[in-house]
Amino acid sequence: MVLYETLYSSATDLGFAAFGAAEASALGPEAEGRLSQYLADGRNADMDYMARNVEKRLDVTLLVEGARTVMGFLAPYDHHADPHIASFAHGEDYHKVIKDRVHSFVAVNRAALDAAAGGAFSYRVFTDSAPVMEREWAVRCGLGFIGCNNFLISPTAGLRTLIGILVCNIPFEQIDCMRLRRQRASMPMDCGECLACIKACPTGALMEPYKIDARKCISFLTIEARERDNSSPAVHGHLFGCDCCMDACPWNRDVPGWPEFSSNAARLADKPDDIFSIFARQRK
Ligand code: SF4
Ligand code: SF4
Repeated sequence: MVLYETLYSSATDLGFAAFGAAEASALGPEAEGRLSQYLADGRNADMDYMARNVEKRLDVTLLVEGARTVMGFLAPYDHHADPHIASFAHGEDYHKVIKDRVHSFVAVNRAALDAAAGGAFSYRVFTDSAPVMEREWAVRCGLGFIGCNNFLISPTAGLRTLIGILVCNIPFEQIDCMRLRRQRASMPMDCGECLACIKACPTGALMEPYKIDARKCISFLTIEARERDNSSPAVHGHLFGCDCCMDACPWNRDVPGWPEFSSNAARLADKPDDIFSIFARQRK
């Protein structure tokens, strides 16, 4: 069996909603221009980390020694009609959940991966945890396209997914195949004339397609901002995150989410403030 087919089957058997791969490389001038403009406009607000390690952020081969291939995984989560807490936050901390499952993927395929690497397979896994442009890589891996609301949109799994990235030493030629090329070529490129997400944004943070000002964004203000005030009118009653621009999207799909991502739903319905202890790591 072609290596890609084996890996694809294994990823879907493990519950990933999508899997793909791309050659590890610098992301190139377009991505560099977008990041430079974002930082120059100050749209990263006090997410100072976005301005650090810019070279590594733009070139994964500088971040991971010997990087030759990037694999992308989508982990689905369920929709929760909770006006205070974003859907992704109704369960365990996704960083650990996704990394654990990608490590399981490696364990299952270890022999094939070692063989493809021509020796010991070496890899690192990232989930929103290092200077890796995960959405850019998800697109390159053929998992979807980036919508006007800046979410990754998978034509099959929709928007309610979290991205896992594995960077490894397998030469890309070992994994490249017709199926992967077809998968990557068949992705829609953009949203057409929709703009529903921009109309749905309650604060004007989503200024225009692909352009979010974190300083006005409820997700940023309630999760990442150094000075957080959940009683401020600026957060419109949200406690943790905001799904308005996601929920408005016609590309949402009804894919069953992993149970780990909903394991605290009953507890949060009863005691919403518990979100601050569950996701304490993000709110340092
Ligand atoms: S997360 Fe909420 S506030 Fe932020 S851009 Fe989307 S709709 Fe606007
Ligand atoms: S709501 Fe419309 S414009 Fe926004 S991301 Fe979805 S398809 Fe694109």
